[in-house]
Amino acid sequence: MTRKILLVEDEDAIRKFVKINLEREGYQVFEAPSGEDGVDIARKEEPEIVILDIMLPGIDGFEVCRILRQEYPDLGIIMLTAKAEDLDKIMGLQFGSDDYMTKPFNPTELSLRIKSLERRLDAKNVKSKVNDGVIAHKPFRLDTYARKFYRDGEELELTPTEYLIMKLFMENPGRAMNRDEILSKVWGDDYLGDSKIVDVNIRRLRAKIEDNPAKPQFIETVWGMGYRWFVLEEDQ
Ligand code: CA
Repeated sequence: MTRKILLVEDEDAIRKFVKINLEREGYQVFEAPSGEDGVDIARKEEPEIVILDIMLPGIDGFEVCRILRQEYPDLGIIMLTAKAEDLDKIMGLQFGSDDYMTKPFNPTELSLRIKSLERRLDAKNVKSKVNDGVIAHKPFRLDTYARKFYRDGEELELTPTEYLIMKLFMENPGRAMNRDEILSKVWGDDYLGDSKIVDVNIRRLRAKIEDNPAKPQFIETVWGMGYRWFVLEEDQ
């Protein structure tokens, strides 16, 4: 199956260069020179992955990310940034990108990031043939067959990356895991990015599942190490 990738980038030279590289790897690449075009083309072509520059004329990459994430929870989004301020924003807020790269970047590295993202998309979106079960930790339930996650019976939409993190947590209740371990299990051993991406995703997950994300009750921070999925006592 040829995967569809949408490339939203206003700099023609970068767009053409990335497009040629991705086509050489067998992807079908759609180009959008602005955020508005990006949203239109995403709705029309429904790509699996969007590579999204942040600085764009008109609506910026953050806004495009917000719109697309809302409409397509299963979409893979990799953001491109040239500015440290953007990086802070990616880190600090819940825009919903799965990964980010800083410019200038190496096309080989971009394609490795895409491969890692594809594995996560497949792990979430391709239904398994066997029912490998439902994991329930009150008030949460993870259905690994339907690939769905519930709190108090209500489905919470998770991105593919968030889903895999939740699965890892729920399979390892009470166990402290460091960032590198989470990175390697969820992103893959060949992922070359920064382990800060783990924190970005945890922050977003907390915003979705915690009553008060500032005082997390379920995803605990283990100081100087990483995170731990907490199980309420009555469930143990
Ligand atoms: Ca730009």
